[in-house]
Amino acid sequence: MNVGKKEEPNRCELLGSSKDDVVHRIQDNCTTSSDKCQSIDKELEEKWTPKKQEGEPLVMCYYRLGYEEKAKRVADCGTFLEFARYGGMQEGAGGLPCGGVPCTGDSFKLHRANFCRDRLCPMCSWRRSYKIFGQVSQIMDLIADKYEFLFLTLTVPNCTADELINTLNNMAKGWIKLSRHKRFKAVVKGFFKALEITYNQTADTYHPHFHVVLAVPKSYFNSRDYIQRDEWLFMWQKAMNDSSITQVDIRKAKDKHKEKTGKTAAEKLASAVAEIAKYAVKSSDYLFEDEELTDKVVSVLVPALADRRLCSFGGCFAEAHKQLQLDDTENGDLIHIDGQLRSDVALQIYRYGWSCGAYKLIEVIYKANILAEYDE
Ligand SMILES: [Zn+2]
Repeated sequence: MNVGKKEEPNRCELLGSSKDDVVHRIQDNCTTSSDKCQSIDKELEEKWTPKKQEGEPLVMCYYRLGYEEKAKRVADCGTFLEFARYGGMQEGAGGLPCGGVPCTGDSFKLHRANFCRDRLCPMCSWRRSYKIFGQVSQIMDLIADKYEFLFLTLTVPNCTADELINTLNNMAKGWIKLSRHKRFKAVVKGFFKALEITYNQTADTYHPHFHVVLAVPKSYFNSRDYIQRDEWLFMWQKAMNDSSITQVDIRKAKDKHKEKTGKTAAEKLASAVAEIAKYAVKSSDYLFEDEELTDKVVSVLVPALADRRLCSFGGCFAEAHKQLQLDDTENGDLIHIDGQLRSDVALQIYRYGWSCGAYKLIEVIYKANILAEYDE
């Protein structure tokens, strides 16, 4: 692949922190660590920082490929985070020291942030998976008692880089055909579908597939409409007009660890669904030590994923989604992923900025100032 080499900005610029005012604010308005709440620090260190760092090779790759705008957006992603602290704890009740105030029992929620929404951004993929989990959990609470659920995986033979876009287009059409099949329509009352693409480095081929959760009536397993695995395969082959397809996986969603974890069937199922919809492509499938390989795969995935719907809800899933007034999993809010927060009930707001490889506390906004700052 011939990629025009561009001069790469230094690391600090790439991370979107050298020029903007974040750094100045950190210097001017630095708050001592004793004021911070340790639970936010822990979360930043264990969850946010690794995701932010994971995006760095992607930024470099985008610059090398000449995707300057994308590079800048991903570099700037998550450089600004605000967590709101909500109360619920009596002073002196044995919480963590947090500026002298116990904070165990308080909750911290992301309040404001800047996300780039790039399809391959590790930070945004992570937020999206939480969002999907949140939405599916709510949907399951509403419909789990009414249906049984099946996991269906629809695959096609691996394809080359040149064939990927065409294959994805055919799969989208194939899904529509399958969902209009009378056997399908007789039993499937709703679905959640997610696209995943894996990359096979040895063969240099791509493996696109759909993960689908199907809602079927409670009576499904004893009904004459029951569809055997071979029939699913045959229906998918027909929908794709490709008899060389050999892989279709269908299984009943089971709640194996119900007693152990104390989770309900709906929660378990929502977790499983979030897991399958976590990423369209795992970052380990496009970010490699080898920069040339990274560039090659990313340059294939960017056009293949552009304007493509990665997840969709249908039937009873879509109705519940609408009834719950949930927003779009792809274009919707990545900040308030489990419901809107009210800044007027927040006790404090902790504002963090990303600067040369770490999150630093910029300032703490106290209750008296929150209303003035946010709800004018
Ligand atoms: Zn992002």
